[in-house]
Amino acid sequence: MTSTPDLESELEQASRAYEEFASRGLDLDITRGKPGSEQLDLSDALLGLVTGDDARTPSGVDARNYGGIDGIIELRELFSPLLKVPADQLLAGGNASLTLMGQALTFALLHGTAVDGTPWGAGPHKLLCPVPGYDRHFTLAESLGFELLSIPMDDEGPIVAEAQRLAEDPSVKGMWLVPMYSNPTGITITEERAAELAAMPAAAPDFTLLWDNAYGLHHLRETHPEPVDILSLCAEAGHPERPWIFASTSKITHAGAGVSFFGAGPETMRWFIANLGKIAIGPDKVNQLRHLRFFGDADGVVAHMRKHAEIIAPKFDAVLDALEQGLGSTELATWTKPDGGYFITLTTLEGTAERIVKLAAEAGVKLTPAGATHPYGIDPAGNVIRIAPTMPSLAEVELAAEGLVACVKLASYEKLLA
Ligand code: PLP
Repeated sequence: MTSTPDLESELEQASRAYEEFASRGLDLDITRGKPGSEQLDLSDALLGLVTGDDARTPSGVDARNYGGIDGIIELRELFSPLLKVPADQLLAGGNASLTLMGQALTFALLHGTAVDGTPWGAGPHKLLCPVPGYDRHFTLAESLGFELLSIPMDDEGPIVAEAQRLAEDPSVKGMWLVPMYSNPTGITITEERAAELAAMPAAAPDFTLLWDNAYGLHHLRETHPEPVDILSLCAEAGHPERPWIFASTSKITHAGAGVSFFGAGPETMRWFIANLGKIAIGPDKVNQLRHLRFFGDADGVVAHMRKHAEIIAPKFDAVLDALEQGLGSTELATWTKPDGGYFITLTTLEGTAERIVKLAAEAGVKLTPAGATHPYGIDPAGNVIRIAPTMPSLAEVELAAEGLVACVKLASYEKLLA
């Protein structure tokens, strides 16, 4: 146990370190999981890969014209082994998987699903949200009228017993999941945990796993897990239509100008395409063709992702080193050590996250608002901070991490002495 005089001297030191950092007048931002410009540069060649006299796909489709609601077949075939979804159950869409999520949920609310024609919106509708999670999942679902129910996670995925208990309520229609390198913890759901979720009893006949594989190819290290074949696991468990799989090239090529993907069981794919066909004539096939030419094949994607890792792994390591150096010998915080994805989660003393984010902002380091990682923006323990190290330069990340450590120490000793 640290004595009060010791704590007072720690607080004094922390306060001095913080003032020193704040006096540098920095302006750093580790808020959002955006690629840095060096990463975006990796895909610039893509922009020139389709011209007016060369706009046909390998199977002869003129990419400049309407049609092909499910996207060009060759790109679906290229991503099929990477995402573990058969090409005929994989749709290539527009620029954002979040839009596909919004569309799929809206169709279910208005028309019911391929499994059950009762519109979800006809009664109360709820979604399970493993926490901490992705803020945009929560705000999207909330805006569509879903009630959000938090469930805890460990380092293998969501706690299934808790999910199963809540799914005894037929108004629980599904569950958000980021199976690989989750936003924001960076954990990857194990095959065993995925199999349990595939087989889990649920009162809603069309209980759905919203399997957002946004980071399935975004490894930081040489050895890495492969995406789980959730379609097969669910089919083997007797729930072939349970997973709705989402992915995109947002953090592979150009963020917001890539290609999105939707994968599902055969019935759900027919249902989705039938509904999508009412609101769109087809996706941007020119962009899809650019992506096809840019990658060439699945190995091309893998090689491209290694270049991303070379740029961003040092940024992750810079944060992890700073946390270890500054806080490793204290009991003030713990943090995740991701092997992929875009985020690190820092867990601090209870009730200090908001103060840390505020101190950081005042010292010129923008952090994701405290609470954003939880439904309704409420983190009950007030201790989760999401760190997104990809966008700033390495030198800026190093500085931001140093500043963050100063803020954690100051807020922690204030709290311990309060
Ligand atoms: N899903 C997760 C888990 C994300 O973290 C993000 C972006 O940060 C997205 C989806 C957004 O993907 P897209 O650009 O394809 O809409």
